[in-house]
Amino acid sequence: MGWLRNIFEKLRADIRLAMICLLGTLATVTILPFAVLRAVNGQWLAAVIDVLVVAVIAGSALFAWHSGRTRLAGSIVVTLVTIGCVGIQVALGLEGLLWVYTVMIANFMIGPRLLAVAANLALMASPFLLPAGFPAPDAQATFLATAALVTLYGFIFSWLVAFHHSQMEALATRDALTGTANRRVMEAEVPDAVASHHARGLPAALAVLDLDHFKLVNDEHGHDAGDRVLVAFAEILRRNLRKSDRLYRFGGEEFAVLFPATDRDGLEAALGKLLERIREELRGPSGPVRASIGAAMLNPDDDWSSWMMRADGALYQAKRNGRDRICIEGDGRCSPERCAGAR
Ligand code: GH3
Ligand code: MG
Ligand code: MG
Repeated sequence: MGWLRNIFEKLRADIRLAMICLLGTLATVTILPFAVLRAVNGQWLAAVIDVLVVAVIAGSALFAWHSGRTRLAGSIVVTLVTIGCVGIQVALGLEGLLWVYTVMIANFMIGPRLLAVAANLALMASPFLLPAGFPAPDAQATFLATAALVTLYGFIFSWLVAFHHSQMEALATRDALTGTANRRVMEAEVPDAVASHHARGLPAALAVLDLDHFKLVNDEHGHDAGDRVLVAFAEILRRNLRKSDRLYRFGGEEFAVLFPATDRDGLEAALGKLLERIREELRGPSGPVRASIGAAMLNPDDDWSSWMMRADGALYQAKRNGRDRICIEGDGRCSPERCAGAR
């Protein structure tokens, strides 16, 4: 049953992939019998179009599944299925026109929203432009009104889904107080960074930052005051990191920074600047708030937890040696003398 859970997890992680695969399955199950029926009735053009539509949708679902390029796969499906839907109108007239509504909704479920709008406008225009003309002259206005409404509903619905999806993603990946990436993101990204830096032989560094005596701020001025200090701390860190550095809040008043493609000199410079800015800018209700920083370079035999443990050990040293300082693991830099010299 493990494979079934893997499939479910993969579909759950990517809503567009789920839609494309659902559509691939539904198209195969529902359209293929029509192809057989039409072939039996001698409607060869319609039968061929049906088979092609199924092949395109099911093929795109397989492509999306294996390549992960769901946006491209979705765009291909929208384009080709819309063309197929026009083809079915040519072959079947009014009966073909009835498929327009299904395709219009499916376009929003699987393709980029603007492409779906363009495809639906093309579907609304197509019966008027075809050589045979509109197959039910009395129903022209009704067709335009109902198709426009279906497009509008599809647009609003897909916009809402995308909006809620991005909100849920933010909730799942962002720390609500400071807006930084949370522990869950860190546990996903740092192992990836370890693997890619090992593979490319690049240096990388990990730092852990912890506010000094932060409990006192809470105890003396209340939790809200503590929260404001945390927000200001995260803001100082964010403003003074490079774009490629990754900041995470992974505990109460503990933050981690991943420095990709950074050697030891780069790490010392970056942390020195951070500590300086914290000293200059971070203020609580009763004066400056300071922080201690522990860091470790990535070693060739590290996995992410051993790397983290070494950075955490360096933080512990920084605390033990008097706080408000940087300790970088290794090279004796965490000895009391070196740490004391960090000021
Ligand atoms: P040290 O210098 O050894 O790090 O001392 P400390 O007081 O900072 O460390 P300790 O771990 O004893 O206390 C951390 C405090 O952080 C305790 C907890 O109430 C506070 N804290 C954790 N998360 C939050 C939060 O989200 N908001 C606020 N206001 N406080 C928090
Ligand atoms: Mg602390
Ligand atoms: Mg702490």
